[in-house]
Amino acid sequence: MSLQRPVDYEQNRLLALRQLNLLDTPPSESFDRITRMASQLFAVPIAAVSLTDSDRQWFKSRVGVEHWEIPRYKACCGEVADTSELLLIPDLQASPFYRDSFLASSGIRFYAGAPLLTRDGYGLGAMCILDTVPRELSEQQLAMLQDLAAMVMSQIELQYAYGRVDPLTGLPNRSQLGEDLQDLARDRHGQTAFAVFTELVDVAGMLSLQRVMGPTYLDELSRAASQGLTASMTPGSYLYHVGQCQYVHLLTDTSEPEAMLQATWLREVMLSLTPREAAAVMVRPAIGIAPFTFGNDSAADVLRMAHSACHDARSTDLGAGVYSREQDIRMQRQFRLLADFHAALEQPGQLHLHYQPRINLANGRCIGAEALIRWNHPELGAIPPAEFIPVVEQTRFARPLTRWVLQTAIRQASDWNTQGLDLRISVNVSGANLQEDDFASRLLEGMDEAMLPGSAIELELTESALVGKGATAARQLAAISAAGVEIAIDDFGTGYSSLAYLQSIPAQVVKIDRSFVARIDHEWRSMRLVKSMINMAQELGYRVVAEGVETVESLETLRNLGCNEVQGYLLSRPLSARAFENWLDARNQSDDTDAQP
Ligand code: C2E
Ligand code: MG
Ligand code: MG
Repeated sequence: MSLQRPVDYEQNRLLALRQLNLLDTPPSESFDRITRMASQLFAVPIAAVSLTDSDRQWFKSRVGVEHWEIPRYKACCGEVADTSELLLIPDLQASPFYRDSFLASSGIRFYAGAPLLTRDGYGLGAMCILDTVPRELSEQQLAMLQDLAAMVMSQIELQYAYGRVDPLTGLPNRSQLGEDLQDLARDRHGQTAFAVFTELVDVAGMLSLQRVMGPTYLDELSRAASQGLTASMTPGSYLYHVGQCQYVHLLTDTSEPEAMLQATWLREVMLSLTPREAAAVMVRPAIGIAPFTFGNDSAADVLRMAHSACHDARSTDLGAGVYSREQDIRMQRQFRLLADFHAALEQPGQLHLHYQPRINLANGRCIGAEALIRWNHPELGAIPPAEFIPVVEQTRFARPLTRWVLQTAIRQASDWNTQGLDLRISVNVSGANLQEDDFASRLLEGMDEAMLPGSAIELELTESALVGKGATAARQLAAISAAGVEIAIDDFGTGYSSLAYLQSIPAQVVKIDRSFVARIDHEWRSMRLVKSMINMAQELGYRVVAEGVETVESLETLRNLGCNEVQGYLLSRPLSARAFENWLDARNQSDDTDAQP
């Protein structure tokens, strides 16, 4: 039985086997196809691709066998791997050596196995066929079995070489992860598992490392990391190299807390390996865990979820975190809104302006309205501005958005003007708009064309949009103010910590944020705060508007504090242009009978 081999043959053979990353991998259709064919060609109940590990025969693919592995001791496939030769045993019961083997005692009588040989001549195992009755094979059939073994080896080599193994680390790559997820889903449909995404350095860090340490440093780091990660693998886990300095572990048969623990441990391992000490500080591993369900989540989704968890984990103390579906859904929705906003600007009917009345507290007269955008998305319905404006403002859509709002507001102002209504429309403008060279000139041209006086429009800008925005912004503000268009500081009190800026901005109105106003009727401190804001702003020459007035008590308090104007649900919610006109009519009529507000 035993053949004279070099002493280190078995050691090298095992190394070759391990390098292929085949052991304990999920079943795969590319191998199963060959095993099924073998069973049919030879009309045998059992066929398998069997790999010989140090102490076991492990089946990469099998037909007609329940178990995944059997002991190596007295396993026929083990002999094939040892000898690298074809083995035919017509009847195990007639073989003095195998008569009492595991196979024989489980009812197998016939065995034939062809060796799976690497190019270097190492026997990895066997392509074997088995039967419960004694059999013979012809020369031609034996040749056929060898052909099948060669096909298995081609598949193994193909898998190893062709786009599935990362040449740098020797680890299976992202394509292999995708395939394994599909294969695992077949056996484990509906089971939960975890994808653990490890990123050694973020993109900026990688660039710095490359500059500081030279172009091959990241390769060194990747190799060191893959060794560390391979060494810390637990049973039921699979490791992939999915991008530069990025790894994914698939963890099966474990719980979320266990996966978390594993992640923090992996992070420790990563922190302890830096191929060259100088760069230790720059290696900042982050780990994201994405729980997923086999068969429900596509490979692309699993990778995306795990990557996004890893990205979020960067900003946490632990440097590790679990994927949050809520966060992801929010991100996806933001992307969708951004993608669809262009159409909203182009197609009529999706965007509207609503108008919320603003009242002079001294005489109760409506002096104008704030224009507030409304988006009626064809599929998602009404989208609140608080959801899409902050996203849109940060893109190149900031310009067309404000252009659309201003055009619509100017048209409306002109319409009300011709109706003899003396109203000022306040328009919310983004900080980005002040960086447009032609912002003021376009606005003023638009107003001129509509024959509107400067007092017909007011611009609302937040503190952060107004302060320290450079020469272009200052020029725009100056031109706008010079034309008599007033500037209001919106959401006053929420943004800037220093009030010194108030001297430098050409604004006339301060709108106290509703978060302060909402509490003045029941919180003494809020009342005092609003009181001092009003006093200070008025002393500096500003008119003060309180936003978000919801109760009669707040209104009375604001009146007593000397606030100039108010706006809020108590008086009216934002209304369509037509509803606003009706509201104004009704108010003017009742105004004749009793004093308001
Ligand atoms: P904002 O400019 O501070 O507008 C006031 C917000 O408070 C509006 O919300 C308004 O409906 C709401 N509001 C008014 N009175 C009350 C009240 O008594 N109680 C409560 N709870 N809320 C009240 P909206 O329309 O959802 O707009 C939110 C924000 O979106 C605006 O805050 C503004 O920053 C932005 N926005 C709205 N329209 C536009 C626009 O056309 N362009 C730009 N750039 N931003 C806009
Ligand atoms: Mg506003
Ligand atoms: Mg506001």
